[in-house]
Amino acid sequence: MIDTNNLKITAEKYGIVIPEGMLKYYDFIAEQLVEKNKCYNLTAILEPNDIINKHFIDSLTIVPVISKINKLGSVIDVGTGAGFPGTIAALALKENQSTLLDSSEKKINYLIDLIAEIGEGYAHSPKVVCSRAEEAAKNENHREKYDFAVSRAVASLNTLTELCVPLIKVGGFFVAMKGKNAENEIAEAKNAMSELNVVIEDMEKIILPDESERNILIMRKIGATPDKYPRRSAAIKKKPL
Ligand code: SAM
Repeated sequence: MIDTNNLKITAEKYGIVIPEGMLKYYDFIAEQLVEKNKCYNLTAILEPNDIINKHFIDSLTIVPVISKINKLGSVIDVGTGAGFPGTIAALALKENQSTLLDSSEKKINYLIDLIAEIGEGYAHSPKVVCSRAEEAAKNENHREKYDFAVSRAVASLNTLTELCVPLIKVGGFFVAMKGKNAENEIAEAKNAMSELNVVIEDMEKIILPDESERNILIMRKIGATPDKYPRRSAAIKKKPL
């Protein structure tokens, strides 16, 4: 389905080595994405090279970021959709336990089947949770339980901070995958960052193979989340922090 040699070579340019024996799982994910998109409406990105560049390589860019900080930490992908970055990063993060969260039941059903089919391709099979992030963060099984929350293409940074940070342990990290507008989003999210007790630790700028700009923003949680956060979805929408 995809040119796995191209995937391997491109990933290496970003410092990620995909072992030969793992390439078949990326190919399988691409094939399932295209096949199941017909009934699940998963993504608009369906051309093989676009799948490699815009889904797989982009998802893999968070792997070195996470590995550098904590090779063993638990990771939750908030608003994972068809599994990006979570399903792809989890293939490469051999020791981290990943959880994929989305509010869409059909996407979660797609992911449950996909992960079962990949089976031992994952050193730790990702866990899958069907919930809104606001609701998961009120549940003691998820609130302040993760070392990392990652997210791509879900909400603007101020809203995303309220959705993701309550899920992270104090001392954990929020890894937001943002585009070329990252600096503006950061300026708008100052209040959210202060309310949710996170500080910016670093930002890595990466140029993706299609020349688009990816900014990986890394925030560290320095204090507990106040009980009032996250607010209900309607309140977040009506008055973002
Ligand atoms: N992260 C994936 C990607 O980059 O391809 C999916 C992005 S898609 C545009 C946004 C996803 O976030 C959707 O699947 C949607 O169901 C999910 N989502 C949006 N708000 C959410 C929330 N509050 N809690 C959980 N999932 C949410």
